[in-house]
Amino acid sequence: MDKSYKTKAYSAASATSALASTTIPRRHPTDRDVQIEILFCGVCHSDLHYARDEWHDVMPAVYPAVPGHEIVGRVTKVGSAVAKYKAGDLVGVGCLVDSDHTCPNCRSSLEQFCPNQVLTYGSPDKHRTAPVTYGGYSESIVVDERFVLRVPTNLDLAAVAPLLCAGITTYSPMRHWNVGKGKKVGIVGLGGLGHMGVKWAHAFGAHTVVFTTSPNKTEDALRLGADEVVVSRNADEMKKHAGSFDFILDCVAAEHDINAYINMLTRDGNLTMVGAPEKPLPVAVFGLIFGRRSFSGSPIGGIAETQEMLDFCGEHNITADVEVIPIQKINEAYERMTKSDVKYRFSIDMASLRSE
Ligand SMILES: [Zn+2]
Ligand SMILES: [Zn+2]
Repeated sequence: MDKSYKTKAYSAASATSALASTTIPRRHPTDRDVQIEILFCGVCHSDLHYARDEWHDVMPAVYPAVPGHEIVGRVTKVGSAVAKYKAGDLVGVGCLVDSDHTCPNCRSSLEQFCPNQVLTYGSPDKHRTAPVTYGGYSESIVVDERFVLRVPTNLDLAAVAPLLCAGITTYSPMRHWNVGKGKKVGIVGLGGLGHMGVKWAHAFGAHTVVFTTSPNKTEDALRLGADEVVVSRNADEMKKHAGSFDFILDCVAAEHDINAYINMLTRDGNLTMVGAPEKPLPVAVFGLIFGRRSFSGSPIGGIAETQEMLDFCGEHNITADVEVIPIQKINEAYERMTKSDVKYRFSIDMASLRSE
C-alpha cells in the first residue's frame, strides 16, 4: 500500500509568491496516529513570516510552504494503538506535532523546550512523507496522538482555533508567574496575543490593566475584561502606575521603550515578553537591580498545559475573538494582518477549501 495520500492545501511556492491552491501528501495513519479533518485554522503572524521566509536565520522556509498551527478538527481515523481518541472526536493541534519524548524537558511535560521538537510546519519530516512538515492550511492532517488535544464540545470552533498558539502563548507565562487574585497585571499591546492576555488575567481574578498606544481601543479593552486602560503616550497616566505591577505581559513585536514598563513593576515583579521585536531592546539594568525585578520571555506551552488551558476554556466559556474567512482570502488577510487590521485573529473556515 502507498504510504501517503493526497490532500488539498494552500501553499506558498516561494518567498515572494502569494499562497495558492495545491495538493500535498499526508501519511496514512500509523499505529499511534490520529487523522484529522481540519475544520478551522487560525492565522498566526508566524505563518506569514514563514511563508515569506522572513525568519530565514532561525527557521529557513522550505517550499512549498504550508503554514498553519492553530488547528481544530474532527477525528476521521485512528491507528490501532490509539487509546485516547476515536473517529468523531473534536480535537486540536498547536505548534508542535512531535518531540524526542526522552529529554529532561519532555520528561517534565515541557515539550516546548525540547531540542528535538517537530514543529507543525517547516520541520524535517521524520516520516519522510515530504521534506518538511506541512501545517494546517489543509483539508486534513495526521498527528501522533500524544500531540493531539481534546477540544471542549461547548465552544465555537472557529474561535477555539487561535487558542492553540495565541492562547497558550499568553496562558503559559501567566500560570508560571502565578497570576491570580490580589495581583496587579499589565498587558502591553492589544492584538492577537494581547486580547487573549486580557481574557486570562481577568479570568484568573487579577486586577487587569491594558497599555495601548491607541485611545480608540479603550472600549474594546474594557469589554474584553480590563479593569483599567492606560494610554501609554500619556506620561501622567503612566506615572500613576509606577512601581505597582506584579506582572506585565508584553505582546508588542515592534520597537518600544521596555524600560518604561520595567519601572512599572513592584519589588520582585516580572515582565515577560511574548511579542518578538526583530532588533535587540536596550534594557536599563538599574531598573532591574532596584526592586529585584526580572525580565524574561516565554514561548508556547507544553502539551499537558495546552490541554489544561482548553479544559479551562470549556469551563469558563473562553475563546478568541475571530474574523472567519474563506481560505481564498488568505493573501488579503496577510496584508490586513501586517496593518493590525483584525479583531483579533483570522480563522479560516476549511469548508471553503473542501468546496474548491
Ligand atoms: Zn503561532
Ligand atoms: Zn525532548
